[in-house]
Amino acid sequence: SIVRCCCSASISSESSDDESTQKPFPVPESLRSKAATGQNALLVGGGAASPNPRSISALQLPGPGMYSEYAKNLRKEIMEGLRYILRTKNEYTFVYHGSGTTATTAVMDNLLEQGDKIVVGVYGHWSSIAAEIAERLGANVIRLKKPLGSRLTLEEIEKALSEHKPKVLYLLHGESTTGIFQPLDGIGNVCEKYGTLFAMDLVATIAQVPFDMDALKIDVAMMNTQKGIGGIVGLAPVSFSPKAVAMIKNRKTRPRVYHTDVTEQAREWLIEKPKCYQVGTCVHSTSLALFHMLREALANVVDEGIENVWARHEASNRYMYDRVAQMGLEFVVPVKKDRLPGTLIVKCPKGKDAHKIVSFMWDKYQIEISSGFGPQTFGKCIRIGLFGHNARVETAEIILDALEQTLGSPETDA
Ligand code: PMP
Repeated sequence: SIVRCCCSASISSESSDDESTQKPFPVPESLRSKAATGQNALLVGGGAASPNPRSISALQLPGPGMYSEYAKNLRKEIMEGLRYILRTKNEYTFVYHGSGTTATTAVMDNLLEQGDKIVVGVYGHWSSIAAEIAERLGANVIRLKKPLGSRLTLEEIEKALSEHKPKVLYLLHGESTTGIFQPLDGIGNVCEKYGTLFAMDLVATIAQVPFDMDALKIDVAMMNTQKGIGGIVGLAPVSFSPKAVAMIKNRKTRPRVYHTDVTEQAREWLIEKPKCYQVGTCVHSTSLALFHMLREALANVVDEGIENVWARHEASNRYMYDRVAQMGLEFVVPVKKDRLPGTLIVKCPKGKDAHKIVSFMWDKYQIEISSGFGPQTFGKCIRIGLFGHNARVETAEIILDALEQTLGSPETDA
């Protein structure tokens, strides 16, 4: 039979498509039972931490719709919470949907036009990914590389900026794949001196260590929500200084990706006047469930007080580092003050197998740790992330008691 549609084209209802949808398609039996997840797992690997219970329960809150006054207010509260943990007055502080990598890509796409120069500090796998993202977007990338276990000095950074005069300097505050903690003092002033925008990845440090975005003269910051903030994977916070925004507004070409274009997002977050709020200013559909998750994670930080959150992290991280040192394990980063407080990385002890250690911890104790990430550390190291809700001395005790037993077991021998 022939069906005539409104555009007057003809389609046959006896197409092979119709035949194929009438045939039974194998049902995935694996989906008929409940997900086989660890019930009380403790997530302390290098990636996502066990989330704060308050942010998890907020996922179930009903939302009256993404264009409602309620949703507008929810966005406002999220922006205020982010400004509080960053210590910034930046109006352009909001979130993208996605994980930290979405934010890295968005930062690069918004700041860099074809051929623009960027200096990226490369001291691990995530920093090398950031450099690759900028390169794929067509930027002229200068990698400031450091060997495993060392960080950049202010002199090395200044030398690179005076030589290359880049548009952007991109650094990671914490490199979670190698355990490097990059000090930031003085870098903002150096960037100012050479007319360079200072952009930072704060994924491994936000709401974990004392931080002041405006005092450090950082122009752009990106984060995720599953580490120190205490939420789950799904949103990617960013903050742009007025200087960064002015630069974006003066671009010759538009950012290549529509939905992460800062100018488009600024309308959704009502930083700029929306084009047409009645019809909908959202760049794409909004997940109010994720917004609730983040709002409650931030509210939890506000209730505790950011200074107390930092102090809790400091106490539990110090306990973890001291006890691991007593256990005789060797740190990847030799200089104590260069070690990333919340993400500890030690070399896999001689005669042991890093993957077996990770599996044993999971199978026996339902504790997720990691064996490293990226070519420098995967399979050679053990990584423990103690941040967000997990950053407590009692939790560190549970993890390290289990680790001691695991290292003593012949089942983890190489
Ligand atoms: N930067 C750093 C320092 C990270 O540790 C991570 C991931 N843990 C990322 C970027 C990427 O973030 P995401 O996994 O949320 O995409």
